[in-house]
Amino acid sequence: MTQSHVFPRHCHSDLPTAVGGEGCYLIDADGKRYLDGSGGAAVSCLGHSNQRVRDAIKAQVDQLAFAHTGFFTSEPAEALADLLIANAPGDLDRVYFVSGGSEAVESAIKLARQYHVERGDTGRRHLIARRQSYHGNTIGALSAGGNALRRAQFAPLLVEMSHIAPCYEYAERPEDESPEAYGQRVANELEAEILRLGPETVMAFIAEPVVGATLGAVPAVPGYFRRVREICDQYGVLLILDEVMCGMGRTGHLFACDAEVIAPDILCIAKGLGAGYQPVGAMLASKRIYDTIAAGSGFFQHGHTYLGHPVAAAAGLAVVSEMLEKDLVNQVQARGAYLQAALEARFGQHAHVGDIRGRGLFRGLEFVADRTTKQPFDPALGLAGKLKKAAFAEGLICYPMPGTRDGRHGDHLLLAPPFIATEAELDELVTRLSRALDTVL
Ligand code: PLP
Repeated sequence: MTQSHVFPRHCHSDLPTAVGGEGCYLIDADGKRYLDGSGGAAVSCLGHSNQRVRDAIKAQVDQLAFAHTGFFTSEPAEALADLLIANAPGDLDRVYFVSGGSEAVESAIKLARQYHVERGDTGRRHLIARRQSYHGNTIGALSAGGNALRRAQFAPLLVEMSHIAPCYEYAERPEDESPEAYGQRVANELEAEILRLGPETVMAFIAEPVVGATLGAVPAVPGYFRRVREICDQYGVLLILDEVMCGMGRTGHLFACDAEVIAPDILCIAKGLGAGYQPVGAMLASKRIYDTIAAGSGFFQHGHTYLGHPVAAAAGLAVVSEMLEKDLVNQVQARGAYLQAALEARFGQHAHVGDIRGRGLFRGLEFVADRTTKQPFDPALGLAGKLKKAAFAEGLICYPMPGTRDGRHGDHLLLAPPFIATEAELDELVTRLSRALDTVL
């Protein structure tokens, strides 16, 4: 093989070349087939060869490839915005299209600030986020995230933001506290932080309804997000929900927050919106926020060249239409329950699997050295990396992540298979995972 000029994520990895995709499988240049158990990183919700999305992209390229949003709107962007808003919670009313998750979060942070500025509430500048969260890799989004590993070397560049506790029942709820009481207590940390900073200085709170890339599919306990919503309303703080990973049907609800029976002021989506066929994300904003800016300066002081890209929007429109027309979101609920049961049957008694959790086809396993004490493995063991390699050798793509280095949170594994996965394919996923785990633990 000749010397590659691609700058890869891992300089010393010898990656196979992907040449094809078929349903839930990716195929490399040697013809090896990989079962996509994590949709890459919760992206490929329709699998790798959806005809409708491919046709929509081709048709859009033939009709109109690009028209800058400084000059034009486009039919696919308008239609996709209409479809998202028709199905969105609360008074979300406007869709701002971007190219991915980090851009959606950056846009949300800046929109929150501009909303307060336009109302004359210029002192509101603090964003409160949670520890053990991930909101993207650009400087603003990384500042909001609480993933210690991803932040570490960039710390001097990051904007100062507050981080409160996540709602992480398995690791952090004391046995003598009920889930409800635990949820209220950790939600109340938000109120305490708002009061500490001064309510007149806080612009927004950001959280993932189901924590993905940092904790491995951790939903909040019932009531947590309702209390968060109450607190935000009481202090005039905007609630930003980051559903870049857990949104777009992944949890068995079109929007993950539907399960919490609350609506945010700003909602970020990406990954499953383009389902891997196009890089596209979006920020949904409430009517109140949009109207404030429309009645004020009339201009959102933010933008990227490719926002509202017609081909990306055409792909997103085909993806969401396919999800809704084929009732895939309900299918996710059923297949998710099947996957959870299969994981419990295979790993429920495993000496080093402490927790099996998640919603829909967004599932996580947490690995522990000791199930009783929940003591994580020593990070030096590099369990997550070894498991990823072993699974790949077994022809399984999954998403293991190292625990945080504070010794309280262990290595975990994220599973996010395509919504079209059959029960047989989910069984195959569990079998391959079990073989991989046997080689590393
Ligand atoms: N927000 C969440 C919750 C994510 O999981 C991710 C990516 O994993 C992002 C934001 C960043 O998205 P992207 O990688 O598309 O920039």
